Amino acid sequence: MNYMTIGSGTAVPQRERSAPCHLIRGEGRTVVVDLGPGSIWGLARHGRVHLPDVELLLFTHLHMDHCADLAPFLFALRSRELSRTAPLWILGPEGMRDHYGKLQATWEKRVEPAGYELLIDEWAGSAVNWKGWLLDAAPTSHGVPNLAWRIDSEGGGGCGVVLTGDGESTDELIQLARRADHVLVAESAAAPGEVLEGHMNPGQAGDLARQCGSRMLVLCHINPGAGVEAILRESMAFYDGEVVVAEDGMVVEVE
Ligand SMILES: [Zn+2]
Repeated sequence: MNYMTIGSGTAVPQRERSAPCHLIRGEGRTVVVDLGPGSIWGLARHGRVHLPDVELLLFTHLHMDHCADLAPFLFALRSRELSRTAPLWILGPEGMRDHYGKLQATWEKRVEPAGYELLIDEWAGSAVNWKGWLLDAAPTSHGVPNLAWRIDSEGGGGCGVVLTGDGESTDELIQLARRADHVLVAESAAAPGEVLEGHMNPGQAGDLARQCGSRMLVLCHINPGAGVEAILRESMAFYDGEVVVAEDGMVVEVE
């Protein structure tokens, strides 16, 4: 299993950082977590992803910096060049079905599946074995429902990746991550030293990695102006393991 950051930035346009999007691949599976604006081009550019290969689309929450490319993603799948027959499963937080219903009311058949089955679900609260990988989630504190996702190889017996999405830490998130060996991909939208309700700063993300016993910490959701050195320094004051500040296109071998 390997993890690639497609978009390491925020809603604020930056030359080097796109909006949130993450790619997890391995054993023939392709999973995408979040689709901020521009993500479908980022998936092509950095991951060379052929969109019909994406079988599972997970959403952390439904703020537009994390989901604005869902309509363009579904529209692209109607192109002759991207036709598919494999089902596409979209799994997100509470409100996911209603969100798709609104897109459908606006864009009509342009966001509807052609030649494949589209399944849209909201997280039911318990772990799921998906093609031999374990999917599990826990809420964070972000003002709107946000799910941190855990994706594990070997049905949970291997190593996995935990992605926080947005929000402050919760006991449920720590329990979710602590269960097994993992790489933690944590948001750090607040600048070093800044306290921002509903987000983490690099120190809080480092403290979370320490509490979770993470193998490695990848900091993402980086706003402009936050210097990489200062981000690293603050998170490393709380966490002894390896820390990296994500860059678009960066790959981490999870196992
Ligand atoms: Zn966000």
